[in-house]
Amino acid sequence: MKVAVYPGSFDPITYGHIDIAKRALKVFDRLVIVISVNKAKNSLFTGEERVEMVKEVMKEYKDNIEVIQSDDLTVKQTKAIGATHIIRGLRAVTDFEYEFQMTHANRVLESEIDSIFFMTDNKYSFLSSTTVKEIASFRGELSPFVPELVEKAIIKKMNK
Ligand code: ADP
Repeated sequence: MKVAVYPGSFDPITYGHIDIAKRALKVFDRLVIVISVNKAKNSLFTGEERVEMVKEVMKEYKDNIEVIQSDDLTVKQTKAIGATHIIRGLRAVTDFEYEFQMTHANRVLESEIDSIFFMTDNKYSFLSSTTVKEIASFRGELSPFVPELVEKAIIKKMNK
C-alpha cells in the first residue's frame, strides 16, 4: 500500500488544498494529512479545529484519508507513520524556492523519504489560507475559495 503525508498549516483548508489532496489520492492508496501546529505561528484556528474542519470537508474520502496534528518535524513524522512520500502543492515560482530548500534539507535528514509536487487547477493557483483570511477581514465573499462550513467557521471566529 502506497502511503503519503500531506503536511501544512491548513489554517483553514481551502479549495486549493482539497484539489491537491484529490490529485494525490489518484497516485497513493492512503493520504495522511498532517496539520502542523506551531505555537510560534499565530494561527486563526486551533489544531483541533483544523483537524475537525479537514475531516468534515474530506469526509467522502474518509476511507483513504487520515487527519492528524503534529508539532514534530514533517520528515520524522512521515517515517514514523510508515509513509514513503511527502506531498506538497506548487502555486507559483515563489513556492518553488522554499520547497527546493525543504526537499533537500529533508533528504539530508531522511534520505529515503521523497517529495512529490502537484499543481492545482488554474483557478486556485493564487489561493492561500492567508489570502482567505485577508478577504474575510474585509468581509469579502469567501464562497469561491473555501467550502461553506469553513466559511461559517471563519466568520464565527472573526466575530468573536
Ligand atoms: P504551509 O503553512 O506549510 O505553507 P499551507 O497550509 O499553506 O502550509 O499549505 C500546505 C501545502 O498545500 C503547501 O505545499 C502549499 O503549497 C499547498 N497549497 C496550499 N494552497 C494551495 C493552492 N491554492 N494551490 C496549490 N497548492 C496549495
